[in-house]
Amino acid sequence: MDQTPDTALEIDLTALEHNYRLIRSGLLPETRFLGVVKAFAYGSEAFAIARKLETLGADYLAVAFSREGVSLRQQGIRMPILVLHPQPGGLGELIEHCLEPSLYSRGILTSFLEEAAKQGQRHYPVHIKFNTGLNRLGFPEDDLEWILARLGASEIVKARSIFSHLAASDDPKEREFTLGQIRAFEAIAGRWGALAPGTPLKHLLNTSGIFNYPRAQADMVRCGIGLYGYANDPGIDARLRPVARLRTRVSQVHDIEPGQWVGYNKGFQATDRRRTATLPIGHADGIGRQYGQGRGWVTIGGQRAPILGNVCMDMTMVDITGIACQEGDTAIFFGPGQSAETFAGSAGTISYELLAGISQRVPRLILE
Ligand SMILES: *Cc1c(COP(=O)(O)O)cnc(C)c1O
Repeated sequence: MDQTPDTALEIDLTALEHNYRLIRSGLLPETRFLGVVKAFAYGSEAFAIARKLETLGADYLAVAFSREGVSLRQQGIRMPILVLHPQPGGLGELIEHCLEPSLYSRGILTSFLEEAAKQGQRHYPVHIKFNTGLNRLGFPEDDLEWILARLGASEIVKARSIFSHLAASDDPKEREFTLGQIRAFEAIAGRWGALAPGTPLKHLLNTSGIFNYPRAQADMVRCGIGLYGYANDPGIDARLRPVARLRTRVSQVHDIEPGQWVGYNKGFQATDRRRTATLPIGHADGIGRQYGQGRGWVTIGGQRAPILGNVCMDMTMVDITGIACQEGDTAIFFGPGQSAETFAGSAGTISYELLAGISQRVPRLILE
């Protein structure tokens, strides 16, 4: 029996290596590189990606929540791991697993100091996040003295870095706004440097920031989507390689007579003779109903087969009229040569959501 899964999200680590080297080559040699591996490494496979980034020489990893970092530690990842959005309830395990918190508010900073003191920590590395216009997480600049007073009065923690996050680094129309965020962050960093001894790392750029505002690379960049082969820009995407490929096999072929319906709630009606293929991937796997009604498509034998009617929980029907296709043939949702960004765009969303949404039911197949 062939043990290869019929449905798989293939993760190509050579593509990851290509993307890492390409992105790195545009940075100054001394700039540190943080690889973002939150949400199962954008829906791929966090451990395999983290391990590969470790061997490639990345300096830091980042996850969103403590649990994600704990899981990487339990699998043997030793690199520094920044937790971007720690929750008050997860601070104990965060310290136990040597994860480094982003502290973004007076509340979380105070809770963290208490927890670190309870665990007898000294100079525990923390990262101070400032809000410069995204208005999502982060201290206002006005809290700078308060922060320095709290940190300075304690030997418990030590600021390893200060950082902020850009709101629209991918949007050329928002260049002025982004430059304003960059200036705001530089001002905060300048004040920090003037008021406090020691030099924490400074970092601001995500993937699109790296490509569009390289002069703001500071001491480190935080790269997520670019590592996985997408950069919110067709010209750059052409130079990157998609890491993930979602493929499956045709379960059954049907010939549909004019007037017949396909799928739940009669989602599609044939006006002429049609041939359909049923695929064993549905919305529970992360291909949502928004891709139904002809918006999304797969390729079978290099030909485009649009999704017919409504996507089901475990299945999707596609139109293979005129395509040489039989049961057992491979169908590809996205991957090299078939951009996840384009597929996502067909339903009004973005590669980030499509990739990170591929559910844990889909087996991951790591290709070295
Ligand atoms: C997710 C995230 C990133 C990575 O962004 P990409 O656009 O995927 O490169 C960087 N920084 C923060 C704070 C994030 O939340």
